[in-house]
Amino acid sequence: MSATQPAPGPAGSPTAGYGRFAPSPSGRLHVGNLRTALAARQLAEATGRGFLVRMEDLDQLRSADAETIGAGQLADLAAIDVISDVAVVWQRDRLSAYAAAVAELAPLTYECFCTRAEIRAASRAPHGAQRPYPGTCRDLTDAERDRRRRDRPAALRVRSGDQWISFDDRWQGEQRAFVDDFVVRRNDGGFAYNLAVVLDDAWQQVSQVVRGADLMESTGRQIWLQRQLGLPEPEWAHVGLVLNSDGVRLAKRDGAVDLGELAELGISAEQVRAGLVRSLGGPGEPIGPASGANPAGPGQTWVWHGPGSLS
Ligand SMILES: [Zn+2]
Repeated sequence: MSATQPAPGPAGSPTAGYGRFAPSPSGRLHVGNLRTALAARQLAEATGRGFLVRMEDLDQLRSADAETIGAGQLADLAAIDVISDVAVVWQRDRLSAYAAAVAELAPLTYECFCTRAEIRAASRAPHGAQRPYPGTCRDLTDAERDRRRRDRPAALRVRSGDQWISFDDRWQGEQRAFVDDFVVRRNDGGFAYNLAVVLDDAWQQVSQVVRGADLMESTGRQIWLQRQLGLPEPEWAHVGLVLNSDGVRLAKRDGAVDLGELAELGISAEQVRAGLVRSLGGPGEPIGPASGANPAGPGQTWVWHGPGSLS
């Protein structure tokens, strides 16, 4: 079976496909992560989809703690009633599928020997948060490539044609993202996030991607890959970020922000869940875009003023 072909669904798998939450096992989930997970679970349910959790451990393949951390994340998710309908897939078990897709993309890829500093120095002005790859290695001669291979191993980039891709986001509206010649295999041999998620989503029949708005910029690259590989394009729904009262993205340094720390303050997982549901627009109706009647809404940023924000 081709690596890019969706797996035959398990008996009784939903015809509308799955929604998903895909954390990286790098630390305990905080309320921002839990809020995104709840939004994904609720929207999947409200739109007749199944729901799955996937562990995106591409950056933790050599970590001895990843399995323990991942298990803890799954326990925290279960405590707020976010449970995968199917067995949890870990990306470490998918490496051969990623390798097959890189081989399939070979006519479109080229070796890049640039360091981060070289890219920064040669790049034009950033497009939003992105600094596009300036194309330095796109047209190297065979002799130049041979010479540079002696200096350092190559990453593989796709020849994207440097283009803007437009897409509709359920919660953020019409979006545009710039697609440069991005990396699909890093120079340490590791596979790039954009490649892996696109393959995993198609293989797992994910038809709805709910995730934090910090990943909005990567959507264009992922759509580009889906089109090149002939994969279906899911619905996109980016959740507004959770910010601290200084307007900075919530992080561990912001005090009691995970279920363990909140439990020490006497706040149960059920209370956390109820508070997060309210922040997403309230219980009772399928969550939708923010409106007059629903001024919170999952697309809006949510300011965390401490545990009191949950009540
Ligand atoms: Zn390069």
